[in-house]
Amino acid sequence: MKKVREILHEDYLRSLMFGLQDGIVSTTGVVVGISTGVSDKAIIVLAALVAVTVEASSMAAGQYSSEKAVHQMNKNEKHTDSLYIGALIMFFAYLIGGAFSIVPILMFDQPIARVFAIISSFAGLFVIGYIKGYLVEHEPLRSAIELFIIGSIATTVGIIVGYLLKV
Ligand SMILES: [Zn+2]
Repeated sequence: MKKVREILHEDYLRSLMFGLQDGIVSTTGVVVGISTGVSDKAIIVLAALVAVTVEASSMAAGQYSSEKAVHQMNKNEKHTDSLYIGALIMFFAYLIGGAFSIVPILMFDQPIARVFAIISSFAGLFVIGYIKGYLVEHEPLRSAIELFIIGSIATTVGIIVGYLLKV
């Protein structure tokens, strides 16, 4: 356990968690929104892939800029983390988060694929919360439930907006 803490810089952990959670929540909203208005599987998958890639890139850029600002401000504290690695972690974490809803829509047909995407995302939030709790050695089950609740509220808002607007 100590090794994980030593290897994973806290700023990397922040990128990782932010990317995974945001990737799940945002992409699920997009997938549900598109699949409510469109039934063509190829179009849904393509739109979801475009959305998740654009968002992951944007989040990576945001991670770089915001972390750079923090590094510039904290001149006394030594930041041993790399801005580039932080941005890369954000990019891939976001893609992995997005995969929780994109994989089900690739594997199944609508409308059941949409239901699986939602279930998969909610389960993903729970699992990621659990792993996070394990990594930081703080009540894994509690972390799992917490992330599940926070993430599912945000995801539900996205799903409702998606249904209403049929993006
Ligand atoms: Zn830093």
